[in-house]
Parts: sequence; C-alpha cells; structure tokens
Amino acid sequence: MTEFKTDGDFVAEKYRTLNSYFKEVFGEKVYKLALDGGMTCPNRDGTIGSGGCIFCSEGGSGDFAEKLCGDIHTQLERAKLRVRKKTKTDKFIAYFQSYTNTYADVGYLRRLFFAAISEPSVVGLSIGTRPDCLPSDVLKLLKELNEIKPVFVELGLQTIHKATEILIRRGYPLEVFDEAVKSLKEIGVNTVVHVILGLPHETPQMMLETVKYVGKSGADGIKLQLLHVLKGTELEKMYLRGEFEVLTMEEYIDILCSCIEALPKEIVIHRITGDAPKRLLVAPKWSADKKRVLNCINSELNKRIMER
Ligand code: SF4
Repeated sequence: MTEFKTDGDFVAEKYRTLNSYFKEVFGEKVYKLALDGGMTCPNRDGTIGSGGCIFCSEGGSGDFAEKLCGDIHTQLERAKLRVRKKTKTDKFIAYFQSYTNTYADVGYLRRLFFAAISEPSVVGLSIGTRPDCLPSDVLKLLKELNEIKPVFVELGLQTIHKATEILIRRGYPLEVFDEAVKSLKEIGVNTVVHVILGLPHETPQMMLETVKYVGKSGADGIKLQLLHVLKGTELEKMYLRGEFEVLTMEEYIDILCSCIEALPKEIVIHRITGDAPKRLLVAPKWSADKKRVLNCINSELNKRIMER
C-alpha cells in the first residue's frame, strides 16, 4: 500500500488538495507556520461566554502554535526551526491559529499582520477567527492585506445544526456565518470553513448536511476535522460521564469519504483528519496513528472510485 505523509499529499489528483492548490497559487509547496497572535476569544473572556466551546483546549485550539514572544520576526524564525525537519521550502503562510485572531483593536492587528507579511519568506496570511469577530474596520484591513499578499480567513463553523450549536456553546447563530462568508467574498479574501465530524449526538446524515451547506456557501475551502476529546475540556467531562461515544475509525472514514464526495470539485480540502497533541488526547486513541488513518482513507476512496 502506498503511504502518504500528509493530508495534502494524499488525495492529490482525486480531489482538490491544499498542496495542489498552493502549487497553483505559489508555484511550489508552501508550509503553514502555526502562530499565537496573543489574542483571546469572546467565548472565553466573558463577552459571549466564559467556558469556551466545549471541545476547545486551554491553548485555544492552537496547541502546536509558536507562542507569542513580543516580536513576530523572532516568532516566525522559531516556528520555521520547528518545521525544518518536515520541509525544505522557504515559502510559508503565517497562520494565526490560537484563539480568535481578529479579536483585538484594529491598530494591533494592523501592526501584527503587516509585520508578518513584511517577511520575504511569508507568501500569505491565514487567520483563524469567529464569524462574529469581523467588524467593518477589520474587513477593511483584511482587504488591504489581501491586495499585498493572499489572505485566507478560517471560520470555525463546526455544524449547521441548532441543537449542536447550543450543546457545543459555539455562541453565534448560523446567520452570522452566512453574513461573514458574504462579507469575506465581497472583499475577495479566501474563505475556509472548519467542520467537526463526530460531534455529540450528530448522525452521519447531519454531518453530511453541514458539509453540503458549506459546499454551497461560497466558501473556497473546508477543513474536515475528526472530533478529538482533549484533556481539561468540558467535552472530556461529558465523555467520561458516558454522555456520548466517539467515532470508530471505520465510521469516521465512511462519513469522511461521503463528505468528500458531496463537495463541489472546486472547493479546496485543507484537512481530512486533524492533529491532537498526544499528551492531551483522551479519545479516540486510534486517531494518534495518523499515517494508518490516511492510508485507510486512501484505500476507501480508491474503492469508491473503482465502484463508480
Ligand atoms: S471560538 Fe475558537 S478559541 Fe474560542 S472557545 Fe471556541 S474553539 Fe476556542
């Protein structure tokens, strides 16, 4: 069986992968440097909620991100050192991953993002945020940045279903997501949507409905992420109380492949599994063997293609 090292290498030629998309845009492989921009989240600081989304780790879903050190240039250099073993590229996307990366004064955001794109090796920006944290002055800034280097905005949607939205304490309704995608498209920014497969009490049909919704939303890309139960989260408490079960690998692969098949061919699939730090991962443990998971996904996709 052929082995694949990353999500991006894996589905090339069958679906539009992030690696192939980056090659189209930048002419070569580009690596994302995960960064902490020093912000928090309105769903954690009491503005919308104080506990955060039930699956969110202490690190604000940025557990692999290079910590803020007061100087973005040093931070970028440190992040590059961390990925040196994985890639020889010297083109990078500065990926502001931890917490909500537009939740700050626009002056702070301007200094941070402009400093990041002033680095010659940084060919673009990727900004993880919430759809309810895109006021007009931030949109204006994103438009300005996008005219200099490509900007990707990653929105955490996770689900379109109301009951799950409340259960996971997402803190904004679906209409806010629709509005955010519309605004981002108007300013020409590349929009990527995060969806979690395996949220408590969701059926495969519900997950598929979410993915189809994203496919029709106008988004340019999607991240499909397995639900990880991480230490210290509300989700961990629910899991240990037996309130829901995590997906088996077979279930996940079946749902994931159906989701991939349901997406429009032009949408870029940025992720098909997701990583969780081993020290934090409570369940599902099978997800820690990423190489095996990717090979099994590849086999299932091949099987489905042969059966068409
Ligand atoms: S919006 Fe993001 S950073 Fe904020 S609590 Fe939810 S997952 Fe965590």
